Amino acid sequence: MEIIRCEELMKTYGNNSAAVHAVDGVNLSFEQGTFTAITGKSGSGKSTLLHLLSGLDRPTSGKVIYQENNLFQYNDNQLSVLRRRRFGFVFQAYNLVRELTAQENILLPVMLDNRKPDEEYLKRLTDMLGIEDRLNHLPGAMSGGQQQRVCIARALANKPAILFADEPTGNLDGKTGREVLTLMRTISTELGITMILVTHDLGVAEQADRIIRLEDGKVAEDSGEGASL
Ligand code: ADP
Ligand code: ADP
Repeated sequence: MEIIRCEELMKTYGNNSAAVHAVDGVNLSFEQGTFTAITGKSGSGKSTLLHLLSGLDRPTSGKVIYQENNLFQYNDNQLSVLRRRRFGFVFQAYNLVRELTAQENILLPVMLDNRKPDEEYLKRLTDMLGIEDRLNHLPGAMSGGQQQRVCIARALANKPAILFADEPTGNLDGKTGREVLTLMRTISTELGITMILVTHDLGVAEQADRIIRLEDGKVAEDSGEGASL
């Protein structure tokens, strides 16, 4: 079952002779529960595509259809509510609140949404991520890999339909990065969460179900059989 797709997605910066087509007419469909890596050289449009798919940024033209609706028909407030409720985000930088413990950081999105935490779900999540004994630590007292696992727990705390990750292993050494990826994969499979991640690291991308390679804002390769429009 399809969960999200984009149609003729285009993002152009600048104009006329100085125009850069960061994303140039991309059509992609993503199946529910799958794990996709978007890869390509620096400047190929990976971040821009991820920002458009996740509604962090608006395209110059084209659509992103999530549950039958074009994301860009919503105003900024509606879009930010949809992102908060349905999407999770993990970035290269950890962005944890330094004054709060791991546990408090993880609970933040639940609190901000005035929801009651699902203790059982959160316990399962922190166990799967292997951070159950780090929950009372401040970010400064944790390794990079541990901090990123806390970020993943926080991104999943609201039970998002889709987790978007932009170079989630970018600040980690190769081994730690692969471990974090393996955990994300396991969680995607066990909890049925769709994950779309950007990485320039082929070792990381190889762990995905599907690899999409961008070149100059266009899809140059897509291992997803028949998944492309
Ligand atoms: P990647 O993530 O693959 O490194 P990006 O999506 O960051 O690629 O960038 C794609 C292209 O768009 C690059 O040429 C980049 O310089 C350009 N670009 C990205 N964001 C902006 C922006 N805000 N203003 C102008 N050009 C941008
Ligand atoms: P990444 O490491 O994810 O590829 P970049 O370093 O390409 O990120 O870009 C970081 C941020 O700067 C992004 O939000 C991107 O949109 C913006 N950006 C990238 N290239 C340019 C540019 N040429 N001019 C202005 N902003 C840019």
